[in-house]
Amino acid sequence: MAQEVLEEIEPFFCQLYGNPSSMHTFGGQVGRKIRKAREQVAALLGCDPTEIIFTSCGTESDNTAIRGALAAVPNRRKIITTRVEHPAVLTVCRDLENRGYTVVELAVDKQGRLDLAELEEQIDDDTALVTIMYANNETGTIFPIEKIADLVAAGAVVFHTDAVQAVGKIPLNLAKSKIDLLSLSAHKLHGPKGVGVLYVSKGTRLNPFMLGGHQEEGRRAGTENVPGIVGLGKACELAAKNLKEENERVKHLRDKLEKAILQKCPDCRLNSDKENRLPNTSNISFEYIEGEAILLMLDKFGICASSGSACTSGSLEPSHVLRAMGVPFTAAHGSIRFSLSRYNTEDEVDFCIEKMPEIVNKLRKLSPFVAE
Ligand code: PLP
Repeated sequence: MAQEVLEEIEPFFCQLYGNPSSMHTFGGQVGRKIRKAREQVAALLGCDPTEIIFTSCGTESDNTAIRGALAAVPNRRKIITTRVEHPAVLTVCRDLENRGYTVVELAVDKQGRLDLAELEEQIDDDTALVTIMYANNETGTIFPIEKIADLVAAGAVVFHTDAVQAVGKIPLNLAKSKIDLLSLSAHKLHGPKGVGVLYVSKGTRLNPFMLGGHQEEGRRAGTENVPGIVGLGKACELAAKNLKEENERVKHLRDKLEKAILQKCPDCRLNSDKENRLPNTSNISFEYIEGEAILLMLDKFGICASSGSACTSGSLEPSHVLRAMGVPFTAAHGSIRFSLSRYNTEDEVDFCIEKMPEIVNKLRKLSPFVAE
């Protein structure tokens, strides 16, 4: 979390602890801070503050968008999504499939790209919702979301995008967009964990998912996570200010790391669309060795990387994203995702460049597959 965010939220635990829904002045001043945070988020997204609903995380935003949009059009029974979505979308869609919905999971090519003609063909009168992520959390591949939104709007269907990985990393302008619903999560842009947003464009029909009190204009019940919301607002303000400059620096570091690893380690490959990619993500497969073994050895040097998404790590299945991209089983098992941020330094990248070839060589010496 950004230091500036921490400073902003500290008073909201023990000093400004009033309930924003209360009638008294003590609560009212907290309500004003929530209004400010709503404006800060709206400014980053280029939308109206009334289009912002605060939630508890990206997962809740995705669940609300999907279930809420479907409930608003009960006579339509088809959902279109992709094979490479985050589990916060894919698991919900598969649950709905078990409950009688038709779910179409669009395929991707070797670089993780969609075929928009296939999407267009699939949109029909029974389609209730299209949900397609903005940028992939494992590979960083960015989908042409504005083109997709135009296509879906032409079919008069509601369009949701999981933009958890995109917000704060690439510029968005919802004022000019046909996106109806968009999810984001604060901890992906140096805000606190446990707070998110669902953007709902004016006029989009959405049934509330969390029922109870009248918070968020009756669109999401539950007492607000005030420090989280205030922190997210500040994180959005910082992201808007730093986006261009920081991204250029982060991209330079990511490219340096990636180029050196691909040069120094034989039999490895990049998993992503090279052109349309987030500036901070690099997903590389190393043949003959296990991604988990690389992670453990990196961890000894204090380098934190991941294999697949944090939400699916711990499972021995190779990443569903890489499998959907046709990455062979052996290479998918040996893949690592590096994610950089504005807080990474050149020295850290150089240290990782020094250690990776050592680790890969050591593991390959132990691998029974190398001789084969
Ligand atoms: N969607 C994507 C693309 C993500 O990367 C994540 C988290 O990593 C989520 C959804 C879930 O967000 P949260 O952890 O805030 O629930």
